[in-house]
Amino acid sequence: MAERFASLVLPTPVDQEFDYIIPEPFIGHVARGVRATVEFGKRKLTGFVVGVKDSSPLGAGKLKPLLDLPDDGPLADEGTLKLTQWIAEYYACSWGEALEAAIPAVIRRKRAVRAVNILRLGKSRTDCAHQARWLEDKGKKANSPYHKQAKVLRTLLTFHDKDFRPSELAEQLGFSEAPIATLIKQGWLSIEKIPIEDFDGVNAAEAPDEIPDLTVEQERAVNAIAPSIERDEYKTFLLYGVTGSGKTEVYLRALKHVLELGKGGIVLVPEISLAPQTVRRFSARLGGVTGIAVLHSAMTDADRRREWKRIVSGEARVVIGPRSAVFAPVRDLGLVIVDEEHEPSYKQDNTPRYHARDAAVMRCFQQNAVCLLGSATPSLESASNAVNKRYTLLELTKRVAERPLPRVTVVDMKDECRAQRRFTFFSNALTQAVSDAVKAKEQAILFLNRRGYSTFFQCDTCREVLMCENCDVPMSLHKSYGQCICHYCLETKPTPRICPKCMKGAMQSKGAGTEFIEEEIKARFADARVARMDSDVMKSREDYEELLDRFRAGEIDVLVGTQMIAKGLDFPRVTVVGVIHADLSLYLADFRAHERTFQLLTQVSGRAGRGTLKGRVFVQTFAPEHPCIQAAQAQDYWAFYKHEISQRKIAAYPPFVRLINVGIEARDPRRGQEMARKIRADLDDLKKLEAGVIVDILGPSAAPIARLRGRHRQQVLVKVRDHKAIGVVSARIRKWGKGGDAQRIVIDVDPYSLL
Ligand SMILES: [Zn+2]
Ligand SMILES: [Zn+2]
Repeated sequence: MAERFASLVLPTPVDQEFDYIIPEPFIGHVARGVRATVEFGKRKLTGFVVGVKDSSPLGAGKLKPLLDLPDDGPLADEGTLKLTQWIAEYYACSWGEALEAAIPAVIRRKRAVRAVNILRLGKSRTDCAHQARWLEDKGKKANSPYHKQAKVLRTLLTFHDKDFRPSELAEQLGFSEAPIATLIKQGWLSIEKIPIEDFDGVNAAEAPDEIPDLTVEQERAVNAIAPSIERDEYKTFLLYGVTGSGKTEVYLRALKHVLELGKGGIVLVPEISLAPQTVRRFSARLGGVTGIAVLHSAMTDADRRREWKRIVSGEARVVIGPRSAVFAPVRDLGLVIVDEEHEPSYKQDNTPRYHARDAAVMRCFQQNAVCLLGSATPSLESASNAVNKRYTLLELTKRVAERPLPRVTVVDMKDECRAQRRFTFFSNALTQAVSDAVKAKEQAILFLNRRGYSTFFQCDTCREVLMCENCDVPMSLHKSYGQCICHYCLETKPTPRICPKCMKGAMQSKGAGTEFIEEEIKARFADARVARMDSDVMKSREDYEELLDRFRAGEIDVLVGTQMIAKGLDFPRVTVVGVIHADLSLYLADFRAHERTFQLLTQVSGRAGRGTLKGRVFVQTFAPEHPCIQAAQAQDYWAFYKHEISQRKIAAYPPFVRLINVGIEARDPRRGQEMARKIRADLDDLKKLEAGVIVDILGPSAAPIARLRGRHRQQVLVKVRDHKAIGVVSARIRKWGKGGDAQRIVIDVDPYSLL
């Protein structure tokens, strides 16, 4: 008798297939990709069937039966099974965990959620503040439940204008939801159910845009991609195009071609740029040909489920979405586009820690589709793949409509401070340019990649810096909250006057964030309309879109912001871009510090002069000679690439090796160090055993942020030869398990950063 046993993968870290008996009534309904509920230990879990067979090595006597088949048919198709299997092997998680990430929870759940739970204070602010003080007195130790409850109350009192979901707040504060539950039970907190707004859907009746003529370079790119699309062959293209060169037009033409051949496509975009105008632009051009589905995290369950069904049924053949849309079950996939392929948001920072760009390349390889990566500042990995002919390079070196690139001026702030006889954040050149732009009714963007008012407090006598109690991070002042805040764990403290260490010196605020720049600009240009865009003021997608609408309508003269403003904004009246402090990310203890700095400078410069008006960019720096700054001034990507790739080669960093970062986090620093040393010794053994697989092992050493949310962080960095070596090494590390609450082991393959 055939098909008596099913192999399942389950949503647990245990990377193994488990056999179960298929009971009589289920025979004929169990197949690969079907979900089944089973008993696993003492729990009931729902996993995916990955195989059906007529015998099991364990024999029927020892096996349990499948308990339930919750769905009508398979939820994962062959393509999804194959891709998630690769993700599990490569990114060191279980196949079951990878499938959980690929199939949205809403598709797996039976009931749709139409509201989100938001935490509110259950009593008056005064009462809650009183209770917080009482709890603080009662629980002095950081791991006492009173201390944790006090922290929850304090956070809600400080960030009174923010909406926290219970799970989100617990994660941010670094503990379980138990203290929140207690406070709710005691009435100090309450839950407000906020209904999620319905997604408008994509309006296919949108009037089509005028179809622009292609530039010579655009046409060359479109023609280069076409044959691969027609032949159903796997190929990855890197479309390197300077800002404003019309990469989107190339995407649209390639997609249209794919649709005309009856195939489907996926467009991956960084989360923040998934603004309605992106979607509108695609639907205006392609809406006549097919339905377009949109997937993103802010949609209701009902909307997501509807979009998913439209994709599965083939009604929508184009899917636009962030990272997770790489798993969209598009039929007859012909093309995956990864816009802004260098963006860090494509790397997921929890299990499975996959990179959506690399998953897209793998999916295209597995399904004979074309992968099109686009960027004005490609990642070193993608650029080197293009240079080495693994990817095909397509270049757009000129802006559309023969518009010039903006003129970039590097301002040496050492000279500037000397000339102005004081420390300053505003050079005369930038001040003048902003003033000119405001007078001419043009617009300016000022970029500083740091939130808050000041960045740290320092004693003027003993030099003590005010640090967070839970993290090795200085506290920064946020005037709008009237508090000092740790950006990592949301710890808050009142602004200090007297030094807590020497009790003599005065604490002075140092450094500047966007809040300070906004205030300064308002003071300097009384008649300018100034707005700020950073995550302190932008609480939702609606805030973001509303501000952009106002900027577009000309209701704002100067926009101050963090990296939120560096991406994709296309406003023709922006003629001045000022980078307040270009060196901010230059000296971070991270192998991508230069790459990230160059990318940010180039992207933010690219916001200037996109219309008929010419653009000017001022890059303020204390390191004007730095190759990174020089290349950004020349807007010369390949000059940057040549310099940086030689540095990476000398230091043996990607793309010359692959990295596996093993993070060991422990509440007790000694236990963490001990565990890290053991893992290192084990890897040394492996290195001897498998010659040439491991290139180098660094550490254990304290992570650049040595303590975060009360956990001490050690890391062991493994450099391996190539992608094939990854599996061998991570399998070895996984034997150590994932740890528990006291200590955690995190394996990050191809980490974006080491901070
Ligand atoms: Zn002091
Ligand atoms: Zn902190």
